[in-house]
Amino acid sequence: MAFERVLTRNVGKPEALTYKGYRQLGGYEGLAKALKMEPDAIIDEVKKSGLRGRGGAGFSAGLKWSFIPKGKDKPKYLVCNADESEPGTFKDRLLMEFDPHQLIEGCAICCWAVQANTTYIYIRGEYTKAAAILEQAIKEAYDAGVLGDSVMGSGFKLNMYVHRGAGAYICGEETGMLESLEGKRGQPRVKPPFPAVVGAFGAPTVINNVETLCNVPHIIERGADWFKAIGTDEKNTGPKLYAISGHVERPGTYEYPIGITFREMLEGCGGMLKGRPLKAFIPGGASAPILKADQIDIKMDFDTVAKAGSMLGSAAVIVMDDTTCMVRSVARLAKFFNHESCGQCTPCREGTNWMELMLKRIEHGEGTERDGQVLLSICGHIGGNSLCALGDAAIGPVQSLVKGFQDEIDRHIREKACPFPHRRYFEN
Ligand code: SF4
Repeated sequence: MAFERVLTRNVGKPEALTYKGYRQLGGYEGLAKALKMEPDAIIDEVKKSGLRGRGGAGFSAGLKWSFIPKGKDKPKYLVCNADESEPGTFKDRLLMEFDPHQLIEGCAICCWAVQANTTYIYIRGEYTKAAAILEQAIKEAYDAGVLGDSVMGSGFKLNMYVHRGAGAYICGEETGMLESLEGKRGQPRVKPPFPAVVGAFGAPTVINNVETLCNVPHIIERGADWFKAIGTDEKNTGPKLYAISGHVERPGTYEYPIGITFREMLEGCGGMLKGRPLKAFIPGGASAPILKADQIDIKMDFDTVAKAGSMLGSAAVIVMDDTTCMVRSVARLAKFFNHESCGQCTPCREGTNWMELMLKRIEHGEGTERDGQVLLSICGHIGGNSLCALGDAAIGPVQSLVKGFQDEIDRHIREKACPFPHRRYFEN
């Protein structure tokens, strides 16, 4: 499939790591153009492009920016969400490690559009390499006058800081992130008020994901119409990074026009590992309900995946072949959510624990016939009854296991053991 790489065009070009090299590759032209535009015109252009948040929720980026109040009575902030922590997700790391100035440029354009003078890049604590690369790129951007008291000589002041997290998944939730940034325990806030009104340090704040912001320089430079021409339809536009892992020949981060089919994506990464049959795949990270092999031709965009009962989320695609035990896989995910629940709300704190315990019991051959229904009942108590999205995220894989793979649960119960030879893959 022929397509132009946009977000990853500088991957494999080490010169992009330096300010000089990035400029020579055409970088910062989008920012130079943006600084000559009215801030509202930038917001309109981003809205028109149809760019939707690449962090998981898929909310219109331009619309989010438009919620920031005008006026100068309070400072405004941009917080870039680089706390990429969901199992299977590793696309933002690539952007930060290989093209840090692209992110700095996207942040600077966003700040000009909403008139924010400070950016915090909140990066996952384990991403030490990416953090060091960003720090160096930011230093060079200051030295070159792209950051500081007068961005590219415009008189617009912008400071940028890298803030490292400490390893909690919940700090990727936007208000948990703000709490952490303010030096408090990283627990999500009650909303409303939303961060656009009361965000970091009580001031209006835009929070956008790394990949979302990396799209912005290209939209400004090449126009919303160019961006809209890529993708499935006017609600699913632009290039998209997909982090593909699991039973494929060449796992990794791949860029495609949004809406490529899963089958094409699979072919692009060399097909199934050792040519084994596809059994199931998770289209959008650990919180996305699992899809089955007969959905292989699904278009991988926000709305099509949602219509199929799952979500594109962070576009972390986890591929599973016929040797995979679905009970064991979902038990592993349940363990993750139980561990990462911040514990503020009872349904999430208790429910994620019960789900993990029950799934482990089934996996060990000690399940009962009622377990599927009990699991669905627990999901019903968590869904819609929790403060943040983690609760709802935790139930997606469990519900899809019970609804789509009940036969596997039944086999575990009938045979009083896991019927899958887990280690066979590695022994062959
Ligand atoms: Fe914390 Fe879970 Fe409640 Fe989110 S849903 S605030 S993670 S307890």
